[in-house]
Amino acid sequence: MNAGRIVILDDEPDVAQTVALVVGSVGLEPVITPTASAFFEEIDRRMPEFIALDMVMPDMDGVEVMRRLAERECSAQIIVISGLGGRVLGAAERSALEHGLNIIGAVPKPFSSLELRKLIIGARPNAPAASAPFPTSEPMVSERQLMLALESDQFRLAYQPKVHCGHGRLAGFEALLRWHHPEHGVIMPDRFIPRAERLGLMDLITREVLQQGLAWFSNHFKACRPCYGVGEGEAADASRPTLSFNLSAKNLHDIDFADTLQDLCRHHAIDCDQVILELTETSAMDDPVTSLDLMTRLRMKGFQLSLDDFGTGYSSMAQLVRLPFSEIKVDKTFVMSANRSRESRTAIHSIVELGHNLDMRATAEGVEELATLEFLREVGCDLAQGYYIARPMYGDDALDWCRAHAGSSDPTDSDAT
Ligand code: C2E
Ligand code: CA
Ligand code: CA
Repeated sequence: MNAGRIVILDDEPDVAQTVALVVGSVGLEPVITPTASAFFEEIDRRMPEFIALDMVMPDMDGVEVMRRLAERECSAQIIVISGLGGRVLGAAERSALEHGLNIIGAVPKPFSSLELRKLIIGARPNAPAASAPFPTSEPMVSERQLMLALESDQFRLAYQPKVHCGHGRLAGFEALLRWHHPEHGVIMPDRFIPRAERLGLMDLITREVLQQGLAWFSNHFKACRPCYGVGEGEAADASRPTLSFNLSAKNLHDIDFADTLQDLCRHHAIDCDQVILELTETSAMDDPVTSLDLMTRLRMKGFQLSLDDFGTGYSSMAQLVRLPFSEIKVDKTFVMSANRSRESRTAIHSIVELGHNLDMRATAEGVEELATLEFLREVGCDLAQGYYIARPMYGDDALDWCRAHAGSSDPTDSDAT
């Protein structure tokens, strides 16, 4: 972390200069970047203490900039400066917080110098020698540590149930990776997957995830027992539980991935259509041609594809239609705020309809309250996932949850913590 440094991203030179002047007057050293690419170069090189961010840029929108900052595990204090209306600014702020970024405030354009000064002074009460009020950086993970983690079984999967919004029965699980580090304890995936991606280790890690997940699933769900709350009075296909895995953009460069996965499923005697692969649109666009080929091959083999985090970043209709998804997952930022925000409810409703019109199933993740589940039922959302139903659990706990849940299929009876 480069204390005292601020990187400014703004394509309007006058605004950028004014920001630089104001922050200079409170002892910060400004660097102006007029484009997103120049901005990220500076961020990678200098790791600034502060960032001033214009939300509307010609080459990349602010939400995407924030997603990329989150991927870099950026711990800088961020000030959003923008001509967008208060409601949009508020939403952008919420999304950034969701990504784990440190937003210290939003300043509307045309901005008051006083307001900007106050924000910075408030953020560094003991400037200039002050240390930041948050951990400055995560322990930098090395390739060796990640390889060691793979070799010594430090990666474990937690399984989070998905249930039918209507009758509440189990629909399947999403496998979520955890790293049990001998010194640092449990490390969440957002803290190490971006690094593993940059180090080119995602093929190895994904393989480990698939192997562990399929083995667990095969042991307990391949036969689709009604005691787990599925199977009675439903069409055979719809009643079988599914297992979802998250794929990284890096997995989509390997055109043989479809065969590898099919072999693994055969080995574990799992039907391909019980496996769902979740991708984000950004990951599917990393290498659009190979991704389309691979995704088509996966669908032809019977795997289901899910478009994760729909509604954040670049979500273009063209991509949604072009790629063969079978499920659309409403981003949890909308779902978590559904009870408080009419805009979020409108977004959820539209996404569910859009999915249905394109013959996709709609899943809402981030369901934390009963009222949200009831709203999802009303708008015809198919599946729900979230802390209200259950948190991600390790294998044995997930099985215990299933047994208990099978007795009370209505998720409104759930005693999820
Ligand atoms: P995701 O795919 O969007 O996964 C959903 C995340 O939301 C999970 O975080 C889950 O624990 C969390 N979540 C679920 N319900 C709720 C809720 O009601 N409220 C709140 N606040 N959060 C909820 P987690 O496990 O930390 O995973 C974070 C991300 O890491 C995942 O986001 C996914 O993109 C990535 N990831 C996890 N496992 C893997 C993996 O095996 N491979 C790859 N490539 N990425 C993974
Ligand atoms: Ca996911
Ligand atoms: Ca998601």
